[in-house]
Amino acid sequence: MFYGKSNLWYIFFELAKQGLIRENKILKRYSFSSIFTEAFRDNLGWEKAWAKHQPKKEYQIIIVGGGGHGLATAYYLAKNYNITDIAVIEKGWIGGGNTGRNTTIIRSNYLQESSIGIYEKSRFLYETLSQELNYNIMFSPRGVLMLCQTEHELRAMKRTSHANKINGVDTKMVTPDEVKEIVPIINIDGPRFPVLGALWQPRGGTARHDAVAWGYARKCSDYGIDIIEQCEVIGVKKKREKIVGVETTKGHIKAKKVCFVAAGHSSILADLAGFRLPIESVALQALVSEPIKPIIDCVVMANTVHGYLSQSDKGELVIGGGADGYNNYSQRGSFLHIEETVRALVETFPVISRLRQLRQWGGIVDMTGDRSPIISKTPVDGLFINCGWGTGGFKAIPGSGWATAEMIHNENPGKLASPFSIDRFLEGRLIDESAAAAVAH
Ligand SMILES: Cc1cc2nc3c(=O)[nH]c(=O)nc-3n(C[C@H](O)[C@H](O)[C@H](O)COP(=O)(O)OP(=O)(O)OC[C@H]3O[C@@H](n4cnc5c(N)ncnc54)[C@H](O)[C@@H]3O)c2cc1C
Repeated sequence: MFYGKSNLWYIFFELAKQGLIRENKILKRYSFSSIFTEAFRDNLGWEKAWAKHQPKKEYQIIIVGGGGHGLATAYYLAKNYNITDIAVIEKGWIGGGNTGRNTTIIRSNYLQESSIGIYEKSRFLYETLSQELNYNIMFSPRGVLMLCQTEHELRAMKRTSHANKINGVDTKMVTPDEVKEIVPIINIDGPRFPVLGALWQPRGGTARHDAVAWGYARKCSDYGIDIIEQCEVIGVKKKREKIVGVETTKGHIKAKKVCFVAAGHSSILADLAGFRLPIESVALQALVSEPIKPIIDCVVMANTVHGYLSQSDKGELVIGGGADGYNNYSQRGSFLHIEETVRALVETFPVISRLRQLRQWGGIVDMTGDRSPIISKTPVDGLFINCGWGTGGFKAIPGSGWATAEMIHNENPGKLASPFSIDRFLEGRLIDESAAAAVAH
């Protein structure tokens, strides 16, 4: 076998390999020493980041949807509860849904206590996720600024900042001059939408979205969880209102517990299982500009005008706007949205009038009436659901996976998830976050 360019390296590599095999982690860890070793063997020894599997006949648990939330759920089931007989079934490719299509904003400055609980848990887990997954997810706590451009918004954000303080989330209101100091390219003088202040979360920020999915997938694979791509769930098998498995494009797979984690396609899956969800599916779009030198080192959200932006490591301005005005499943961008979003932001960020826009895209998001997610049992025994993250679920991936794993294991939602049960729509116990997610994210 070819290992390097000289016998000396061959001997060195064989010794290192024996050591690693003994520890049962041959080349599984990304580390300085593995990079070093690979450099001397033409990088021929890297394994695929996660193994590809064909479905087995039966699993203890099936997770439908290989986005961030599905993968995180599988990962925390393995890590926190030692359950690894799990299949993650994805109709396309890992992270090909909204997880790989979002604008990567992470924050926890929500209004309601239950939202703060899950989003702050998530933000906290993000802080050390790269180390935990041994995968660089490029978490960048560069700060998130939510602008107030009307008196109403200023009052709403003050209220949110008080709620954050009570719940131990580190945010504060800043004045227009402080805004200008944090973001020198901003125009705070209007005339239509002057900046009256902002809510500042210094430990909010961004992370590389697909790396989050890849990192969780790799760790799931390490645990022996089967990741099955190009496999669509097309039916649900029940016996007397109890789940017994799913029908897929790769055949029938049995399981006593199944969890749907399919974002914008959740209602389609719920329909297969015979119940309805209070969800609307709609395309949400984003775009990036041509790359330029660094001009902004935090995330700015301008909710009143419906736009937000940050700068990627490549130098592109990452720009997001609102959702389409009608329900649809078209996972693509449209010219109308480029025009609308750039027009909305240009008064506050005059610099973008000089930029060419490079590309745009869309994702199908799942909107609930109160703009809060659903993590819940369903009318079918053994079938659970995690959905309704709408325009803002990327930031919630670790916390949501944690809470969903707890619910599946205990067959009941724990403290983090229980406020988000589907029953709240019957009981009128809504968790109104429409101000927090009015624009998106
Ligand atoms: C343009 C845009 C910008 C956004 N910006 C932000 C942001 O800045 N910050 C933030 O926090 N959130 C943001 N979001 C929202 C965020 O991306 C989502 O809430 C989050 O990614 C949802 O993750 P998920 O794992 O639930 O869904 P997804 O990543 O969509 O994964 C669901 C998976 O289920 C699969 N699936 C569906 N049906 C089936 C089936 N029948 N069988 C098998 N598999 C199936 C899909 O192929 C998909 O891969 C944004 C979304 C978009 C579209």
